[in-house]
Amino acid sequence: MAEFLQTDIKFLPGVGPKRAELLKQELNITTFEDLLYHFPYKYIDRTRFYKIREIHSQLPYIQIRGKISSVEIAGAKYKKRLVAQFTDDTGMIELVWFRGTSWIRETLKRDREYVVFGKPNLHGRQINLVHPEMEESEKFEKQLSGGFQAMYSTTEKLKNNYLSSRTLQKLITTLYQSQKPKIPETLPDRLVRKLNFSSLEKALYTVHFPAGTKELEKARARLKFEELFFIQLNILKQKVHRETHFQGFVFPKVGDYLNGFYRERLPFVLTDAQKKVVREIRRDLGSGRQMNRLLQGDVGCGKTLVALMSMLIALDNGFQAALMAPTEILANQHYATLKIMLGDMPVKYGLLTGSTKKAEREDIHAGLLDGNLQILVGTHALIEETVQFSNLGLVVIDEQHRFGVAQRARLWQKNIQPPHVLVMTATPIPRTLAMTLYGDLDISVIDELPPGRKPVKTLHFTDSKRLRVHGFMKKQIAEGGQIYIVYPLIKESEKMDYKDLEDGYFSIRQAFPSPDYAVSIVHGKLKTEEKNFEMKRFIQKKTHIMVATTVIEVGVDIPNASVMIIESAERFGLLQLHQLRGRVGRGAEQSYCILMSSHKLSDDARLRLETMVRTNDGFEIAEADLKLRGPGDLEGTQQSGIPFQLKIASLSKDTQILQYARKIAIEMLEEDPLLDEPDNAVLLKQLKKLSRGPFDWSVIS
Ligand code: ADP
Ligand code: MG
Repeated sequence: MAEFLQTDIKFLPGVGPKRAELLKQELNITTFEDLLYHFPYKYIDRTRFYKIREIHSQLPYIQIRGKISSVEIAGAKYKKRLVAQFTDDTGMIELVWFRGTSWIRETLKRDREYVVFGKPNLHGRQINLVHPEMEESEKFEKQLSGGFQAMYSTTEKLKNNYLSSRTLQKLITTLYQSQKPKIPETLPDRLVRKLNFSSLEKALYTVHFPAGTKELEKARARLKFEELFFIQLNILKQKVHRETHFQGFVFPKVGDYLNGFYRERLPFVLTDAQKKVVREIRRDLGSGRQMNRLLQGDVGCGKTLVALMSMLIALDNGFQAALMAPTEILANQHYATLKIMLGDMPVKYGLLTGSTKKAEREDIHAGLLDGNLQILVGTHALIEETVQFSNLGLVVIDEQHRFGVAQRARLWQKNIQPPHVLVMTATPIPRTLAMTLYGDLDISVIDELPPGRKPVKTLHFTDSKRLRVHGFMKKQIAEGGQIYIVYPLIKESEKMDYKDLEDGYFSIRQAFPSPDYAVSIVHGKLKTEEKNFEMKRFIQKKTHIMVATTVIEVGVDIPNASVMIIESAERFGLLQLHQLRGRVGRGAEQSYCILMSSHKLSDDARLRLETMVRTNDGFEIAEADLKLRGPGDLEGTQQSGIPFQLKIASLSKDTQILQYARKIAIEMLEEDPLLDEPDNAVLLKQLKKLSRGPFDWSVIS
């Protein structure tokens, strides 16, 4: 029966090779099973009927009953459309078709009562229904059970090829009619009984053809659980594997490096949160287990210091440490910070980036190999094949969302015994997402900013207020502040974005002419030296304004910059806006973030900007971000680093199910760490199957 499910979709009656190709391209459906797992994204209650008088354009799908009073073909040759006037006892509405006009015209009968189903659409001042579904009332009454109609996501391209939600539903019906598919259970019987779930077979059927709400909810709960459960099981199983196969280096002591630094060099008192995290890390490093810890803390909370102190513990125990940053700018900045922080301490550290010269590079390689070099700061260059350490004990990865996890994995191969890993991120991750993405890592949180910081004030202006904003900028500059102006840069429309940036730079130059004002510009197309040069001038306060693309997004620490102006703010994602805002508010001065946008905003964009104005709390913003994203927002999910798309569960809504799934997965692995008991064979089988699917597990580990 398993083979039946694996049958190529093209063999399903009504599909064929051409549609099969489309289904594959657009929805990744290649087998019968894929089709079964293409779940409805919503259900429409088809027990509710509207009267034509009640219809307005804001309504979602509606259903009406009535008769056709006239049918005509309107428009010229290429814009031909079929228009039918449809009436009930309260009024008339137009039904419109652009495709298949003559065929549809044939089928429409004047004397019958129809049930019409579609989405109200505002055309000029009139409301019409475009390409509605029509069914003769008589047939309609007979057909539906329970009154819920499943709606399936499709794409424009599919719709143009007559693969609508309705067609998909028909295909699934065909699948069930051709041979009642017997679906093998994927969870151990014990578990199904314990959780009072329906069988997988029943759940799958119900989710496509629900007879009632209660039954539907039960089926969906099972499918959601299952989806989240296998993710957890996979991550946690890998963790178990790591813990049983690798030992961690033991760093039992704290010695002169850390103590010396703490006593003599530490320029301020650690916040309580920093202290707590350093303690957690020390405990890990001394435990004999390999540390895999994620350190989350909002921008500016002082993660670098925690990284440095952790590295000093490695040194105290005779090990080397590495600090990796996602960009050269950041690596340089970390190197400069070490210089200041360590001062005259006898620590040997080096910087390795793409622009390190050959001779210097060779020196560094030699120093790493003979153990002379103790700390290496760098970019990706640091994990190249040629870089060999003599005894790397700890790796700190800063702002990891820019670091592919595959790169993280390469680090491990550097040593037979993998180093301790500390991943730091300022992108706040909601708990559910963290559990899913980093479910195998232990998590530390710094939830407090160093004392004396004033929260950044955030304001939103439309373009018409630009002069006022310029006035404000001049005042800030007069008081010694520096200003960032950021333009969006989104790959697909690169050309246009550069034009925005250049126009923006030009108008800023006009409003802020030299010699009174110095303005620099930094973007991704500049050479590294040019970028560094401009950054340096800004850091040295030689320029007042830095016009930039999002190259400055992550981690840059320039305390004197007190104003962040974000142009076309509506085009940025929430998390990105939050990251950008984090570039200011690092000094003692009151800082400002000004969001510029056009007057016209989509509802989502407005919500994003309002959220930014309302709160500085990164976690609140991350939650809002997760909620704002629909489940189908692939681009958005990639941006936030989610490497897969969930089919039915939602990380923002199904928190409880997720927690429960994790709990059950932990319990199972405690009882049977290798899952080799007969009862659990189905689990192993399913994990294996999923690892071959579109779901890229390797990215998560
Ligand atoms: P992030 O967590 O965003 O990487 P940084 O490590 O860059 O933040 O720290 C931001 C700023 O706060 C730096 O200038 C740093 O020197 C300062 N800082 C860090 N810890 C403290 C502290 N405990 N007290 C005062 N200032 C601190
Ligand atoms: Mg940082």
